[in-house]
Amino acid sequence: MRILSGIQPSGILHIGNYFGMMRPAIELQEEGEALYFIADYHALTTLREPDALRENSRRVALDFLACGLDPDRAALFLQSDVPQVTELAWILSTVAPMGLLERAHSYKDKIARGLPASAGLFNYPVLMAADILIYNSDVVPVGRDQKQHVEITRDLAGKLNETFGEILKLPEPRIREQTQIVPGLDGQKMSKSYGNTIDIFAEEKEMRRRVMSIVTDSAPVEAPKNPDESTIFHLFSLVGSPEEIAAVRAAFEKGGTGYGEFKKQLFAKLWDYFAPMRKRRQEILARPGYIDEVLAKGAKRANAIADKVMRGVRRAVGLR
Ligand code: ATP
Ligand code: MG
Repeated sequence: MRILSGIQPSGILHIGNYFGMMRPAIELQEEGEALYFIADYHALTTLREPDALRENSRRVALDFLACGLDPDRAALFLQSDVPQVTELAWILSTVAPMGLLERAHSYKDKIARGLPASAGLFNYPVLMAADILIYNSDVVPVGRDQKQHVEITRDLAGKLNETFGEILKLPEPRIREQTQIVPGLDGQKMSKSYGNTIDIFAEEKEMRRRVMSIVTDSAPVEAPKNPDESTIFHLFSLVGSPEEIAAVRAAFEKGGTGYGEFKKQLFAKLWDYFAPMRKRRQEILARPGYIDEVLAKGAKRANAIADKVMRGVRRAVGLR
């Protein structure tokens, strides 16, 4: 089984990335051949600062390794170290219906947030399809927000296969029900580009500040509160034990505890949850050259697979 997933170096990794994608990806590395890439071509649709892009890319690698990615099992690499993926994206775009892309959520969401509409952002699902298909992937662990993109990937692979013969494998998304969409400080989807994140490796003071700034309703301390509509409770349920979650749920429903107190409990749990990852991160930082080595090794493995698939595609469509 080949497992494939990616993450954009469009900013700093947050707990939505962790629970939605990184943790499942790290667990899956035990179950098959895992390929995880840092989507620097994709990040260009929102980030136009070369130094920031370079720095974020390395930081994503560092943070992913710190969270438990094992480079002896999973290949970790930069998307742009396999440039053939843009060639496959072009070929896929020639069979991609406009209407299909116009319905893509990521594009619609970013436009609604006032981000500039480039053709690159519009074509994002086509490049993402190429990212997945170029490795003959079987399983794609992603957050709920990416489900539609995996469906588009299947559609595009199906169209190419119909036209030119069975050349591409149709992948399956793997989405955790519980962590479908992790909400951000404002209650919207937590996203690097929305300024509403709790970063995995934030300094203690900063993480506390972010947690304390979670938006709540104005229910007074004594009032019973609905845990199922609360961002605080949603986040707590990602890091608490079953008993702790039940106790916090009961305290919400009973009344008598203010949101400020719940936020303090959430911060304490979050801080402890990521303690082993912070330790590993320090260890990796103490090894100069390590991240470059990991990325080079990953790129080599990824290229070997991509070259083979692309030879088949070029021949099938008549480019060779
Ligand atoms: P951007 O704002 O630049 O789109 P992002 O924070 O949405 O960044 P991506 O790189 O687009 O992060 O997504 C990386 C992975 O993290 C994807 O699998 C995505 O589904 C998952 N993910 C991102 N945000 C969340 C979230 N709030 N909840 C669950 N999963 C998420
Ligand atoms: Mg995103």
